[in-house]
Amino acid sequence: MVDMMFEGKTVAKTKCMGCESTTSVEEAFIFLSLEIERCTSLTDALHHKFLAAEVLKGENKFLCAKCGTYQVAEKTCSFKRLPQILIIQLKRFKYVQSQQRFVRLDYRVQFPLEIRIGSDEVLFLGQTSG
Ligand SMILES: [Zn+2]
Repeated sequence: MVDMMFEGKTVAKTKCMGCESTTSVEEAFIFLSLEIERCTSLTDALHHKFLAAEVLKGENKFLCAKCGTYQVAEKTCSFKRLPQILIIQLKRFKYVQSQQRFVRLDYRVQFPLEIRIGSDEVLFLGQTSG
């Protein structure tokens, strides 16, 4: 019951640029943890951080099972299933290597009352501190 209400599922797809094979990893979540660095709104963070394609290169290269070596790859995240109630947690702390500590990202992140995620629509009601 609780799971159905709050549990969603994401799917991360990684496409190897060497052999073009794709690996999918599904993950259940209760809280959607969102990176917000340089984002001014929830929509911005969702589309430009969470749902945006990321290129894995350099130290982040992907170990491709088919190639047997580390390869440049493209990773995309999407929702496989949205919960009835979506809880979003903003990652307001960022580790700064040069200072060797976490700093708080305390700027305002606006959120809409309604947000479109793929073909689904999620309605946000109530208030948050933003
Ligand atoms: Zn490969």
